[in-house]
Amino acid sequence: MAKRIAKGSHVFFSPEMAEEVQQRLQLTNDLQQALARNELVLHFQPQLQLADQTVVGAEVLLRWQPPGKPLVPPGHFIPVAEETSLICDIGNWVLQQACERLQHWHERKQGPEHLSVNISARHFHSPDFVARLEGLLQQYPACRNRLTLEVTEGVILESLSESRTRMIRLKQLGLNLSIDDFGTGYSSFAYLKELPVDELKLDRSFIRHVDSSQRDRAIIACILELARELDMTVVAEGVETESQRSQLLAMNCPSCQGFLLACPMEEADMMHWLAQ
Ligand code: C2E
Ligand code: MG
Ligand code: MG
Ligand code: MG
Repeated sequence: MAKRIAKGSHVFFSPEMAEEVQQRLQLTNDLQQALARNELVLHFQPQLQLADQTVVGAEVLLRWQPPGKPLVPPGHFIPVAEETSLICDIGNWVLQQACERLQHWHERKQGPEHLSVNISARHFHSPDFVARLEGLLQQYPACRNRLTLEVTEGVILESLSESRTRMIRLKQLGLNLSIDDFGTGYSSFAYLKELPVDELKLDRSFIRHVDSSQRDRAIIACILELARELDMTVVAEGVETESQRSQLLAMNCPSCQGFLLACPMEEADMMHWLAQ
């Protein structure tokens, strides 16, 4: 909030602003407790290869289950958690759970072979981020080359050279790196040539009209070509209709994710889904 206030200007806090601050504090406290009480849960959304519909992996999507209340989607609490270091505690918990599940499935030869986890900028740039991942990969060795970290362009905006150093170390550990919501950030394409990125996730806003808009198709075709040249894979996000799917297939998009194919679901439901 302070960032938006011009230097030297007077600041008045309205009752609405005070209330908003109070609500955010309350939510931060509630979230801290939710983490301690194990009320956070991982959901999983399968990712499929477009050409043959085989499952290539799943994205981990966090939810909060307060007892006796409806499930809370991440959009309601991640942005608030991102205002403090709470996002690092939450992010570390998600990473630990995801690695534990992946190791468990691998040993039993079940479940998806690959997981993608969303990482907030603040967490990515936290001092012990790389060391923690190194520890997790030692504890859960099956996760090596089976875990993708999804970051948005916001991570890179914080510092390109710092991001690059971290990404190189993460790659050396055997992690894959993906740019989430690709094409919606404020950074230029130039960073792609500097960073060891494995995957681009085409933002849902480009997919929505892929079957009707020549302009959207042109942008997607361009990103697909760029990814091919740079040896990156592409996942189309938010595929909801058969018409979008067939258009993406015709454009040789490698893989996709969306309600048409599978919604985010609990582990047990995903196991059922995979068995069918
Ligand atoms: P995201 O990483 O871009 O995840 C994709 C979002 O699109 C998910 O929303 C997913 O449920 C939704 N989605 C998937 N397929 C479709 C579709 O066909 N149509 C539509 N309309 N939506 C679809 P969700 O689960 O509510 O997550 C929202 C955002 O919250 C995520 O966006 C991600 O930025 C963040 N998030 C989720 N889990 C975590 C986490 O563990 N850590 C962090 N830092 N952020 C997370
Ligand atoms: Mg994501
Ligand atoms: Mg996304
Ligand atoms: Mg998104």
